[in-house]
Amino acid sequence: MRDASEALIVIDVQNDFCPGGALAVAEGDAVVPRINALMLEFATIVLTQDWHPVTHSSFAINHPGAEPFSLTSMPYGPQVLWPTHCVIGTTGAAFHPDLRSDPAQMILRKGFRPRIDSYSAFFENDRTTATGLEGYLKSRGVKAVTLVGLATDYCVAFSAMDAARLGFAVTVLEDACRAIDLNGSLAAARQQMQAAGVELT
Ligand SMILES: [Zn+2]
Repeated sequence: MRDASEALIVIDVQNDFCPGGALAVAEGDAVVPRINALMLEFATIVLTQDWHPVTHSSFAINHPGAEPFSLTSMPYGPQVLWPTHCVIGTTGAAFHPDLRSDPAQMILRKGFRPRIDSYSAFFENDRTTATGLEGYLKSRGVKAVTLVGLATDYCVAFSAMDAARLGFAVTVLEDACRAIDLNGSLAAARQQMQAAGVELT
């Protein structure tokens, strides 16, 4: 068992990001057994859950004429328009049925404000609206975080870079993550994470 100052953060292992889901990540479900095993090593475990109202501004359907995976401009910067996914209370928003959720002490929901998306577990996409996770981890004495889950190049990468910026030692276990890889986004995310001091293993 690792020291309690090390936390495992499991990003968005939800049905909609797994094969058959609305925004499926290739082999997204393949991370589940690896993550379940990892949970046995950590005393501090947080699960995150993408959790959107049906009117969410990151959904292409809420921008007449826009195609999914196109880019739009939001007051906080560029935003990819996604297929409708992880709608509050739906099966798609539920965790993968084989993911163990019992060992987690906290489930953090993000992306619930209609006007702003939230890739990172720490800040919404304006990079200033906090989710509260920093305070939760620091008040529990956490100094290092290990990130796993979906998708490597969006929610995992944004969470990892924010965690590094907040002063945590950050590791991303790539074999327990899978990527969307939209227009080279995986290579770009790996480079940005490394530049931010995130350890990729
Ligand atoms: Zn989302």
